[in-house]
Amino acid sequence: MNAGPINFQAAKQVPIARVLAHYGVQLHATGGELRGQCPLPEHTSRESRNSFSVNAARNLWCCQSQSCIHARDGELGGTVLDLVARLERCSIREAAAKLAEWFGAGEVVRAPVPAASAPQTNLPLRFRLTGLDHSHPYLEGRGIAQMTARSLGIGYYGGPGIMQGRVVIPVHNRAHELVAYAGRSIKGDEPKYRFPPGFYKSQELFLLHRARLSGNDAVIVVEGFFDAAKVWQAGHRNVVALMGSSLSDTQAGLLQKHFRHAVLMLDGDPAGRAATEAISRRLSQIMEVEPIHLMPGVQPDQLAPKEMNETLSGHLRPAKSRER
Ligand SMILES: [Zn+2]
Repeated sequence: MNAGPINFQAAKQVPIARVLAHYGVQLHATGGELRGQCPLPEHTSRESRNSFSVNAARNLWCCQSQSCIHARDGELGGTVLDLVARLERCSIREAAAKLAEWFGAGEVVRAPVPAASAPQTNLPLRFRLTGLDHSHPYLEGRGIAQMTARSLGIGYYGGPGIMQGRVVIPVHNRAHELVAYAGRSIKGDEPKYRFPPGFYKSQELFLLHRARLSGNDAVIVVEGFFDAAKVWQAGHRNVVALMGSSLSDTQAGLLQKHFRHAVLMLDGDPAGRAATEAISRRLSQIMEVEPIHLMPGVQPDQLAPKEMNETLSGHLRPAKSRER
């Protein structure tokens, strides 16, 4: 209601090259236009590596891949507003507000947009990445067995889009809906993890949808995707990852809602120890917490199954024995 008037015309005129640069999308000049791989989340075609083109003079984009057009309900392309709305999976109004925020609020928006807009929620993805390689050498190097990779849907993705050439890890919400892929770089390039634009890590716990079904009232909380995969591989289905070393209010709420007891197993480095203390303190106000201190420099994903089980044994007593 009291949203400030947004100058859509001005937002539409933010140069598309600047918008693409913001997302790290690189195109090449061919025949008077810019062309390259389509950055849209709904683009899944593996053949069309050059289907995305930009007309800088008119400040418009288009992707000619049939499947991509189909996923956009027949739309060939659009303005920078449409582009940002698709990349962020948000409304045109929100896209305009984002453009204003990134590229000069003064020019684009006349009055500030109230911060109290939509809550941060992750919408289910409307596509699936296919053709994943579950036995890629990178996974083997991290000690992830093919069966684990297959079960968790983790694999190397060679198709087009922003996840190309990365090991992708599907992230589901508590309702078992796929909301993101995390794309792990495998050759040391940055960023180490790439997420779809508009994905809020803080709103999810990796593997919660499975841990919930384990029937265990204790949950093992780790930092990273590979930590969680290794704990899972060692036979513990009640594991979730924070996808980082901080705990959001939403994540704390999810832990409290689904479990009675949390076993915190963060990295053994100073940052992990500091996080363990901070998170223990917070969680202990809402549930039982048991921190595990790994040796300095040790991360859960480096533990062999036997070490993993030795480390966890004693922390995962059957639920009944903890009742008074
Ligand atoms: Zn496309």
